[in-house]
Amino acid sequence: MNTPDTDPDILHEQARLLRTMTTSLEAGDPIAYHRAQERFAHLTWLREMKAGRRGETLENHTTPRYTWRTVGDNRVRNRHAENDGKVFAWDNPPPTGHPGDDHNCRCWAEPVPDEIKPEYARLVLKGHPSDNPNKWWGPEFIKHFYTGNGQSVRLSEIGHFFSFLIFYLYKISRGRHNTSERIARQIIEVARSRKSGATSYHFENSYSEFGTYHPFFGGGTASGDFSGTIEPDGAYIRINGNIIFNYGDSFTDVLNLREIWSGDSDPIGANWGERLISDFGGTYYEIYEHWTMDFSAYVLLDPAASKYE
Ligand SMILES: [Zn+2]
Repeated sequence: MNTPDTDPDILHEQARLLRTMTTSLEAGDPIAYHRAQERFAHLTWLREMKAGRRGETLENHTTPRYTWRTVGDNRVRNRHAENDGKVFAWDNPPPTGHPGDDHNCRCWAEPVPDEIKPEYARLVLKGHPSDNPNKWWGPEFIKHFYTGNGQSVRLSEIGHFFSFLIFYLYKISRGRHNTSERIARQIIEVARSRKSGATSYHFENSYSEFGTYHPFFGGGTASGDFSGTIEPDGAYIRINGNIIFNYGDSFTDVLNLREIWSGDSDPIGANWGERLISDFGGTYYEIYEHWTMDFSAYVLLDPAASKYE
């Protein structure tokens, strides 16, 4: 059984966010909702910082210098505690190395705010379905296959929305970029070619990587529809809009029999005889979800000069 995160700080932050999110949804309180959005932004930042220190998504947050931060508990190494709050340059590491260089080091590098380039691209979760606290782990998927009469289920209904979203946006990387960065870059590219006015953009991908999120997922399709406006601002453009996301997958062919025989486990393409053999009399069902995220960006119009090249 895979869980998308094992880092204790991220798990802790994720739990805090879920609590805040649940409170805000139940109360319908806009201030609570705003607080939840801040928590989500913080979690995103924490995640990128942790990934950044391993050199994966460094460019999004790299400034020439950073402030050393520690978790602040009694397990912090003495030499790292001495670095806490001090400013170091990425091209001139202190004798201890950079935060995170040591095995199991939980320190992180906080960018020096004045040095952050004005360019940014941000995805913020907006319409958010509430996760069922009774998450389906394994047997529930099989049980629904045999007793659910093919009834579709939403990710949130089975408690998988939030962890799945994090996996989809931040854990799947193709080339140098994770999904959130690739989506941002695709929208920016379209916006640069239009230069101003209203615009829309559709994207869609199948991900075999979902299988590493959970063994019963895999081959699912995620798509999104961006609509928004582009506003020129000197050498920059400002992009504002939202993305409606859709995810869908079929729970079927548990042992991948059709996949092995015919290279395709899509239940629509199989006749009932093939389905009977490969599904052992179960009824396939759809796992799906939709949600909305705000997208905003402020980037240089000239890709050659931009960090979003
Ligand atoms: Zn440390």
